[in-house]
Amino acid sequence: RVPSGVPLRVEGLVKQFGGVTAVDGASFEVERGSLTGLIGPNGAGKSTTFNCITGVHEATAGNIYFKNEDITGMEPYQIAQKGLVRTFQIARELGGMSVLENLMLAPKNQIGESAIRSVTPGLRGGVIEEEAEIRERAWETLEFFEIEHLATENAENLSGGQRKLLEMARALMTDPEMVLLDEPLAGVNPTLEEKLLDRIHRLREDDYTFLLVEHDMNVIMNNCEHVIVMHQGNVLAEGTGEEIRNDERVIEAYLGE
Ligand code: ADP
Ligand code: MG
Repeated sequence: RVPSGVPLRVEGLVKQFGGVTAVDGASFEVERGSLTGLIGPNGAGKSTTFNCITGVHEATAGNIYFKNEDITGMEPYQIAQKGLVRTFQIARELGGMSVLENLMLAPKNQIGESAIRSVTPGLRGGVIEEEAEIRERAWETLEFFEIEHLATENAENLSGGQRKLLEMARALMTDPEMVLLDEPLAGVNPTLEEKLLDRIHRLREDDYTFLLVEHDMNVIMNNCEHVIVMHQGNVLAEGTGEEIRNDERVIEAYLGE
């Protein structure tokens, strides 16, 4: 059922900030249609890796391939246009605007004015040109997350968990093929957490690919078929959740936490 192929390939990624080496030669692949976990102790380089993949930061060395195309050095909007987007560890909703407006602006913010593709989960393809269509798309996304009742709410007034839903909804407004999720469940109550995970699985069935950074090992174990462990800027281990949990090197890496 899951189409084979590797949409994302990271090769020898290095990112230095002055004297700090945040990512130190990391290489890994993410299988198309998978929900892959990316874990590692605080400071392992997970968020920086996301930033380099999505063009937020320029890699110091190494290459990133998305669907076999070298996207290293491209701008975030170009990468988003190709179907690869991320959410941020700290949700970046626009204050002073309604939830609906946040969603309607998301495609323009992320991929520019032109070529906003149709993004309805389960209804893909085509080109959206009219604001009315973007509005409709935004409503469908609100419905998908069951937050229509928040449409006119000022985004500033949302709870932490609702912000995380909005953050993910904003990412989906660009009709991505792959979404990098940076701790989407942090500070989210159990009910919302359940909902977010359920939606991720539903989108997967619709051929989306996810790379998930998450602290809670149980969430990783219960939801990800493949797990990549980062430590000190490099990939320490890879495997199923079960393999990772029993890996001596992984256990040792987490001891300092
Ligand atoms: P993780 O997400 O795995 O917790 P990060 O990628 O946020 O790790 O950080 C990896 C390392 O890079 C840390 O030592 C962090 O302090 C450093 N770092 C991250 N971003 C910056 C930055 N903008 N400037 C300087 N150092 C940074
Ligand atoms: Mg992080």
